[in-house]
Amino acid sequence: MPRVPRASDIIEMFSERSISYGFCGIVSLAFAGLFYRYRGTGMLSGLTTCLFIAGIGCVAFAIYLAFQVRKVTTHDVKCPFCEALNTLVAAPTDDFPCVSCNRMIPVIDGKTIPVSQVRCGFCNELNFYSEKTEVLLCENCNHEIPIAHDETGAPRKTIPAAFVVVDDEALYELSLIGHGKHKEEELISGLQHILALNRNQVKQMLTELPITVLTGITRKKAEMLKAQLSLYEAEVEFSPMEEARR
Ligand SMILES: [Zn+2]
Ligand SMILES: [Zn+2]
Repeated sequence: MPRVPRASDIIEMFSERSISYGFCGIVSLAFAGLFYRYRGTGMLSGLTTCLFIAGIGCVAFAIYLAFQVRKVTTHDVKCPFCEALNTLVAAPTDDFPCVSCNRMIPVIDGKTIPVSQVRCGFCNELNFYSEKTEVLLCENCNHEIPIAHDETGAPRKTIPAAFVVVDDEALYELSLIGHGKHKEEELISGLQHILALNRNQVKQMLTELPITVLTGITRKKAEMLKAQLSLYEAEVEFSPMEEARR
């Protein structure tokens, strides 16, 4: 299906043509005037008439084109990725690239469809997919991000693949895998603080590694705690909680 043109492209085309015809028309009329002024030999009268007619024709056509510009209909489409307004001459019939972010805007039945966000499991970059997405490659690192498809073949709203996170709605659990020796004291007091446990409870915990220290936290919190505990040489992992356990 041919792509619906952008209103700005059509307007530009009409304007450019209008200007060139207008210019040609004026030049023709100027020469016609010049020849008419210095007529006398009689040789040029045919050419003068031709130039005059051509000049009038061009100017008239230029004016017609200028009016066409004002008649261009517009149809605004908001980019579902970056929210930039894309102005087309009619409702889109097919996917088209956004003027601002250059991503292909997915279109079904003349309407843009909503997109979901997913984080790349390799580089953590936020990526987008819609129900039209078949294969999703990370915009940043080009790794393929697995998308689960439901029975109808459309990508699911949530992605169960272990390392892929849908938005930040999933809940996580944080596990302590191991820790270094040098900063054990700091780690203990850090954990005491985070978990609201007493010193003996934390020390007991550290003898039972790996151990799940927190469950049901947001990804943001999990990342924050991981960074914090890493300062104390702790080896921390977090993973999404399984659906059934929520
Ligand atoms: Zn965009
Ligand atoms: Zn990536």
